[in-house]
Order: sequence, then C-alpha cells, then structure tokens
Amino acid sequence: MKYDVIIVGAGPGGIFAAYELMQLNKNLKVAVFEAGHALDKRFCPIDGKKIKSCIGCKSCSIMSGFGGAGAFSDGKYNITNDFGGTLYEYIGKKNALDLMNYIDDINVRYGGEGTKLYTTAGTRFKTICIQHDLHLLDASVRHLGTDINYIVLENLYNYLKTQVEFFFDTPVNTVERLENAYRVVCNDKSYVCEKCIISVGRIGSKWMEKVCRELDIPTKSNRVDIGVRVELPAAVFAHLTDELYESKIVYRTEKYGDRVRTFCMNPKGAVVNENTNGIITVNGHSYEDPEKQTENTNFALLVAKHFSEPFKDSNGYGESIARLSNMLGGGVIVQRFGDLIRGRRSTPNRIEEAFITPTLNATPGDLSLVLPKRILDGIIEMIFALDKVAPGTANDDTLLYGVEVKFYNMEVEVNEKLETKYDGLYIIGDGSGITHSLSHASASGVHVARNIAGKE
Ligand SMILES: Cc1cc2nc3c(=O)[nH]c(=O)nc-3n(C[C@H](O)[C@H](O)[C@H](O)COP(=O)(O)OP(=O)(O)OC[C@H]3O[C@@H](n4cnc5c(N)ncnc54)[C@H](O)[C@@H]3O)c2cc1C
Repeated sequence: MKYDVIIVGAGPGGIFAAYELMQLNKNLKVAVFEAGHALDKRFCPIDGKKIKSCIGCKSCSIMSGFGGAGAFSDGKYNITNDFGGTLYEYIGKKNALDLMNYIDDINVRYGGEGTKLYTTAGTRFKTICIQHDLHLLDASVRHLGTDINYIVLENLYNYLKTQVEFFFDTPVNTVERLENAYRVVCNDKSYVCEKCIISVGRIGSKWMEKVCRELDIPTKSNRVDIGVRVELPAAVFAHLTDELYESKIVYRTEKYGDRVRTFCMNPKGAVVNENTNGIITVNGHSYEDPEKQTENTNFALLVAKHFSEPFKDSNGYGESIARLSNMLGGGVIVQRFGDLIRGRRSTPNRIEEAFITPTLNATPGDLSLVLPKRILDGIIEMIFALDKVAPGTANDDTLLYGVEVKFYNMEVEVNEKLETKYDGLYIIGDGSGITHSLSHASASGVHVARNIAGKE
C-alpha cells in the first residue's frame, strides 16, 4: 500500500502534522500508525477501589493511543520558548510562538472555547519571587483540563478520519529506506510512503534509538530530571494558581548550585501513576469541571542532572532510581515532609493522621532511601524557599511522592525543517528530544506538515 505521507504515532505531534497536511493539500494520501488504542478504547484500569495501582497493561492507556501521552493529561498548553522544549533553536523564536498560538486557536475551535488563557505578563508574583531568589518564568498557558482536552481530541479525530487513514493497535517495527521512499513495516504488513514523519513520544524512546541506530542517524543524550511530586492543600498555592494557573519557578540551590524547578502544576488536581516501559513513576493532572476537582494542588519539583563523558545513559540512571522506589514500595512511595526532615519513614498511620488526604494510593515509605542525597538536599532547600512565597509549603503534612522522573529522549540530529539527513524522513515531538510539551510537540507537527506541503 502506498501513501504520500505516513505518520508514526498519534500523539499531539502526529495529530497536528496530519491536521495541517489536510488543511494544505486535500489530495494527499496520509496514514497514521499508532501502537496504542483509539481514543474511545483508551482506559486506565486503576479505579482506586478494586485496582489501586498500576498493573502494567500491555499498552499503557495513559501514555499511548490517539492523543498520545497528552490524552489524559491536564491539557496545559504553555505558549512560551522559556520551557517545554528547544524547538525555537531550529525554527526561530517568533515562528515557534506563532505556531503555538496557531495550535491554541485550533484547540479553542475544536472544543476549548470558554477555557481560560492565563499569563505571567505583568504579574506581581515575579517581583515577590525574585525577592526570595526564586525565578518565575514567562508564559501564557491555556488550561483545557483533562475533560475538555478529551473533547478536543475527540473532535479532532472526527475531523481527521474523514481524510486520514488511522491504524490503531499497530506498532511500527521498522522504517526502511528505499529509493526516494520509505517502507514502514508493522507486524504482518508493510506500507510504502514518499515522506515519513516519526512522532513516537517518550514511550517510543527505545524504539526511536533503534531506528536511529539502524539508519545511522546521529543522536546525543545527556540529561534526566529527577525529583518528587508535591501535594498540599490547594489553599497554600491558591494566590498563585488563581492568577497564573501554573507557575514555573526556578531556584538555584545554595549548597550545590543545582537548578531545581517546579513543573506541571495541577491546582485542585490528582496525583497519578505513570508507567514508562514497566517502571512506575508519578505524575499529576486536574479537571476543568469543578465536580471532579480535589482539595489539593500538586506539582513536581525536579532537579536536572546532566552527565558528561564517559557516561551516556542518563535515562538508565533515572530508571534505576525509579526502580529502587518500585522495589521498596512496590510502586510509588509517599512521605510526609515532616517525616523526611526528621529522618523517619512515613507509616500508614502517619499518613492517615495527616491533615491532608492523598489523592494517590501510594506506599508510605522513606524517600531518603531512594533519592541521591544531592537531589534530595536540593528538593528540601527548594521547599523551604517556596515556603517564603507560598507559606505552608514546608508544613509537616506536605506530601512528597517519589519518584518523578522526566526522561529526555536522546536528541536526534535534524535540520531546520526537522528533517534527518535523509530527504523526506522527519522526526518530531518528544521523540526527537527537541520538544517536551504538548504545545511544542504540536507546533513541530505543523512545522513539518508545512514543509512537506511546500508552504514554509
Ligand atoms: C500524565 C501526563 C500529563 C502531562 N501533562 C502535560 C501538560 O499538562 N502539558 C504539557 O505541555 N505536557 C504534558 N505532558 C507531556 C505531553 O503529554 C507530551 O509532551 C506530549 O504528549 C508529546 O507529544 P508527542 O506527540 O511528541 O508524543 P506522545 O504524546 O507521547 O505520542 C506518541 C505516540 O506514539 C505512539 N508510538 C510510540 N511508538 C510507536 C511505534 N513504534 N509505532 C506506532 N506508534 C508508536 C505512542 O503509542 C503514542 O501514542 C504530560 C504527560 C503525561 C504522561
């Protein structure tokens, strides 16, 4: 079977590439191959009652399927070059922002109307933060919420399927180079295309490495972010989250000079498990619908770890730490901040007596047995620093879930069109190592589609 364009992966990168191709050339024959399920078949069995923690489904519905890792996410589309990826280094800052705004318009048209666009522009918190050596990064953020995000995806799928052919539950095994074409090989069949866009996200990182090895595409990799997810009463951060929704705050520790940052803030949200290649880590999300909101806010505190020669396996390092928490806790570990400071583990009793109800059923334990001292020291220092702008952050009952690991895909060598050294083979989204967010991944899809259609 022959296509003009084959897209591997139906996350935001793949979806918006398909969308833009459809806008620019209705005659193109486009197919999308997705390892996970169709949107309406995506379902995480954890219900908090019968199934309390991750059972390691063959295809993780949180990470895979139409909508990609973004489908059940909080749907926070950050419009900024300050974080979320380095797309601007390839396509220019203005172009990157224009594309992110373009994505925002589409999201609003496809179901996101009425959702709020928050911005840090002109906020007094910037000054308050800097007075305490904390640095608030600039961004606008459209918060769709998990519920509206799902509706937007549903609407986009209904539109795309009128022209684009979707193959769900169909992982691509190999991509082979032919003369002026590519052969995409799945379990039982193969398909040929003129242009191939690979957008396999974080879950596809190992597969992406294999493809790059097979096709001799240069890559580099040296970073992993490790930390915890903090959960506290929503009132503690309400003054910040009511105005900004999400505040990305960076702090340089006094002890080691490491950078610690807040990441993925979910006001009135819930902490969730995340399964990456069988390793259970932690993440968070929240709903726009007040009925589904909780009394807690959660966010990650992450320390970036860069490695230099000869060590190359930064993700392996992160995985080993996550495995340690899985070994001790059978999954994610939760600890009260007060227990951590006093050098004792949290017990089910201590968690139960706390003035906060955890939103994730995790094993009470001791994170100091899991996280390297340098990382833990940085997190503790940051919690005390945040306590100055959001008093209550360093309360004894503040919950820390571990570990949260942000794996970075190795960065693939591509040019300003996000095209590899081979004509017509593009690598985009989080799978390229260039983006780490919904808006950057989506923007990279539009950028490539415009290049393919000759409009960029
Ligand atoms: C719980 C959670 C919450 C998040 N919240 C936010 C948020 O609020 N804001 C934000 O900006 N970012 C958030 N993120 C990150 C965001 O989801 C990703 O940055 C974004 O989805 C990346 O898009 P992508 O298209 O590059 O990859 P993905 O969304 O990961 O999609 C890749 C797709 O490719 C498929 N695939 C992989 N390998 C193959 C193969 N060999 N063959 C076929 N298909 C394959 C996968 O199944 C997957 O569906 C969150 C992530 C998680 C897990």
